[in-house]
Amino acid sequence: MNLVASESLSRLATLHCSACGTSYSAFELQRVSACCSLPLVAGYDLHEALSRDVIDQADSSMWRYGVLLPLLHEKNKVTLGEGMTPMLHLPRLAARHELSSLLLKDEGQNPTGSFKARALAWPSPKPKNWA
Ligand SMILES: [Zn+2]
Repeated sequence: MNLVASESLSRLATLHCSACGTSYSAFELQRVSACCSLPLVAGYDLHEALSRDVIDQADSSMWRYGVLLPLLHEKNKVTLGEGMTPMLHLPRLAARHELSSLLLKDEGQNPTGSFKARALAWPSPKPKNWA
C-alpha cells in the first residue's frame, strides 16, 4: 500500500540513504536503501514551524510530537499513555552537592516503569502503516 504525503499526519517527507544520501519515498515500504543496502535516515519537512499552541493542545503523551514521528495515520497509533513523565526538583540533594538545582525525570510513571516504554511504542505504527 502506497500513501501520499497529503494523507499523512506526520511531517515525514523523505528517506535518505545513510551512506550516499540518495532519496527514497517515505510513503512506500522501504527496508534499507536499494543503492547501498544500508539503513535509511528520515527527513522531515519542517518549513512550517510547529507552534507552541499546536503542541500544547495535543495529547498529553509522547504522541503530542507525532508530527515528528513516522505516524502516517492516527488509527495506527499504539499507546498505553507513554511519555509526559514529570521532572522532580531535588533541592536537598542539590544543596548537599552544592548545585544550584537538580532535577530527576520520573520515568517510573510510564506503563513499563521505564523510559523504554517510549521506545517500544514509537516504532509500532510503522509496520501498521503498510498493513
Ligand atoms: Zn546509498
